[in-house]
Amino acid sequence: MTSKLTEYYRQPEIYITLPSGGQFYPEGSLESSATGEIPVYGMTAKDDVAIKTPDALISGEAVVQVIKSCIPSIKDPWQMPASDVDFVLVAIRIASYGEEMEMESTCTKCEEEFNFGIDLTQYIDKLGKVEFTNETTTIKYGKLKVHIKPLTYNELSLLQRSAFEEQQVLTMASSNEDLEETERQEMYTRVLNNMTELNIGTISSGVQGIELPDGELIVDKTEIIDFVNNSSIKLTNRITDTLQEIRDKTLIPPLDIECPKCEHKWLSPLDFNYTSFFA
Ligand SMILES: [Zn+2]
Repeated sequence: MTSKLTEYYRQPEIYITLPSGGQFYPEGSLESSATGEIPVYGMTAKDDVAIKTPDALISGEAVVQVIKSCIPSIKDPWQMPASDVDFVLVAIRIASYGEEMEMESTCTKCEEEFNFGIDLTQYIDKLGKVEFTNETTTIKYGKLKVHIKPLTYNELSLLQRSAFEEQQVLTMASSNEDLEETERQEMYTRVLNNMTELNIGTISSGVQGIELPDGELIVDKTEIIDFVNNSSIKLTNRITDTLQEIRDKTLIPPLDIECPKCEHKWLSPLDFNYTSFFA
């Protein structure tokens, strides 16, 4: 039996247009409306606990859980373009706690500590309408066309986790005095190889497909990786640059901060530490 209370469950607080405009979502991972606007609900107590758990290993899981709960139109947050993630978290913050966010800062010049409020809706307004034309996401390479897509949240999380693990091995290898010199060299070589593979992984994750002169699109991951491994650095650099351009377009811009005491001005990134951001 359905409870009579269901009609009083939480309702959407705001409606947003995704920075990607819904592009790059694999079929079935996004339920889009005719207007392109999707509803955002406030967090539940369960979401609040999940997002504030300061464990890097489960933070991806927590983000996915919270997005699913608050933006049910996003069916599979792991498959969403990573470039949409910060934006939807800002929207969820607004839906849960309101538009104003209180921040603390310390002047980089006179060290005065002060609080100030920012209006988060400015990000929703600014990033809600980013255009991705075919020109910005296609690289012409001889007779081929390389189609670029932002990394999915899943791809980015895996790559970040692996990079973090390699970094830890590197720190261990350089600080452990009990290691034989040959062992240390072996560890360095292994880290270097793994980092190179991660880099290739990032590049091939950013390739949606490679279009042959007759229009056929090659989407097989192994074929793409082999192709990237057998291409000149010029192509890989252009892929990296295009991925960066897509990221820059959807990036939450840094805040203009002015010290109330000495009037010194500087730029500071929006604090995306979830424990403090969702406070
Ligand atoms: Zn100051």
